[in-house]
Amino acid sequence: MPLFEYRCMKCNHDFEELVAATGRTKVVCPNCGATSVEKLHSVFAARADASPIPVPAGGGCGRCGDPAGPCGM
Ligand SMILES: [Zn+2]
Repeated sequence: MPLFEYRCMKCNHDFEELVAATGRTKVVCPNCGATSVEKLHSVFAARADASPIPVPAGGGCGRCGDPAGPCGM
């Protein structure tokens, strides 16, 4: 199940919520109970963005040295 990060528009409380792929789950702020929350981003996507594959200036993969380019590992 994907984990999403939300921010309450009423009290600005940040919280994470597991949301099922099927069926709509009403997301409420655990701090004040407001239903007006905005989805910030997926926590998993944020982790992927935090560790990009290093690419050396000369091209190729910075992890395995493959000159063809980033290997994606
Ligand atoms: Zn709130």
